[in-house]
Amino acid sequence: MDILRKKEAVAIFYGRKGKDIETEIILEDTEVFSCIVDSCIGWMRKDFVAADLLCPICGNEMIQEIRVLPKI
Ligand SMILES: [Zn+2]
Repeated sequence: MDILRKKEAVAIFYGRKGKDIETEIILEDTEVFSCIVDSCIGWMRKDFVAADLLCPICGNEMIQEIRVLPKI
């Protein structure tokens, strides 16, 4: 799990840095789990979600939904 998080962090870093690199952001429908609490912004990509499916911020349950996100 920690290894996966580091990989994602690297991808974000390169995306922000890439002024001199031809970068194309590809959006795609992505399965995510988002927190059931309206006031909580917690969500995770399905690929990175914790095994217990609990929100990483508040610890409540998360529900599956589709969001349009940059492809990674
Ligand atoms: Zn939450």
